[in-house]
Amino acid sequence: MSSTTSTGKRIVVLGAGYAGLTAAKGAGRHHAVTLVAPEERLLHRIRQHETAAGRSRDWPAIGELARGRRIEHRRARAVELDPAGHKVVLDDGTTLGYDTLVHALGSRTAWHGVPGAVEHAHPVERAAEVRRLIREADRPGTLAVVGGGATGIELATELAEAHPDLRVRIVAAGQVGGTYSPKGRAHIRRVLDRLGVAVHENATVTEVTPDGLRTTAGPIEADLTVWAASMEPHPLAAESGLAVDEHGRALVDDHLRSVSHPDVHVVGDAAAVTVPGVGTLRMGCATALPQGQYVGRLLDGRTSKPFSFRYVVQCLSLGRRDGLLQLVHPDDSMKPTVLTGTAGRLAKAGIVTAVLGALK
Ligand SMILES: Cc1cc2nc3c(=O)[nH]c(=O)nc-3n(C[C@H](O)[C@H](O)[C@H](O)COP(=O)(O)OP(=O)(O)OC[C@H]3O[C@@H](n4cnc5c(N)ncnc54)[C@H](O)[C@@H]3O)c2cc1C
Repeated sequence: MSSTTSTGKRIVVLGAGYAGLTAAKGAGRHHAVTLVAPEERLLHRIRQHETAAGRSRDWPAIGELARGRRIEHRRARAVELDPAGHKVVLDDGTTLGYDTLVHALGSRTAWHGVPGAVEHAHPVERAAEVRRLIREADRPGTLAVVGGGATGIELATELAEAHPDLRVRIVAAGQVGGTYSPKGRAHIRRVLDRLGVAVHENATVTEVTPDGLRTTAGPIEADLTVWAASMEPHPLAAESGLAVDEHGRALVDDHLRSVSHPDVHVVGDAAAVTVPGVGTLRMGCATALPQGQYVGRLLDGRTSKPFSFRYVVQCLSLGRRDGLLQLVHPDDSMKPTVLTGTAGRLAKAGIVTAVLGALK
């Protein structure tokens, strides 16, 4: 089976996250695009901590977001990529041929080989499972969030606020919120304290057990462990022989084409995108969305310029009543200025609304 446009160009997009969906929507203005992703509805990952806390709703269907574009959504998974033969094999047994491929398969939890982690910890991207386990528990108990970065902080504050009976702990190998400015870090710490979240810093997890964690700072009790420590790129790029960096992210040129296979664009968490003066972009919705939009414009013929990007802010929700907006330099290093409290919360909410708007 193949996907052929009226102009004869076959475009296949793998993944319907922030990067894949925006790439497909841009390219699908004039070309027929086959969009491959298993889910029916948008996986709105930047709101998964709300899902875990039981505050979520159904996100729009991919079909609804693709309306008005020449996009066929194939609900399947890519299991094999043959970049030399220009073919992708799907888990429904079909093979798609392509002239141009957009690889936007994102990332998944990295367990770093920690003993017991796969068996006893729940990855942050399975937020609905975390919500169910909290609801079904016969007593409030103790919940440990592993990871002191943005995802871990958002999750710990959201859960602590939604479930005041739950004893929430946040466990970090270094400092919680260690990458933020001193003012930003101090605000995060105040909110964690106010919500009663126990903070365990410099505590590298060495083992996860059914009843907690062993760490370099001693054991930590937990009835439920949620793993939000770090993400790794989808393995298909490395497995299929695309050039990748030491983390498995595909190496791309300034038009976001694979340096080894230029008919494959790689965008979002799966790509190691290096922008002059900025550096290699971190994984994030904030970087995935503009990359997908750019490739959509490129394939639609609306630009031929190299991809450009500058960081402006980082933002965090800290429960439903608080937030942090951290101003950053173009290379993502911290400025001293932050917005906190209601202003920070509203800024974050505005950005989240804008993300959904960009997908519509
Ligand atoms: C709880 C949480 C909160 C976050 N908050 C923020 C935030 O506030 N700001 C921020 O910038 N970033 C945030 N992030 C990170 C952000 O969500 C990711 O960086 C972003 O989702 C990456 O987008 P993407 O399109 O590259 O990949 P993804 O969003 O991961 O999408 C990948 C797509 O590929 C599909 N897929 C996977 N495997 C296959 C396959 N084999 N075949 C076909 N399709 C497949 C998936 O179903 C999905 O459609 C957060 C992440 C989490 C988990």
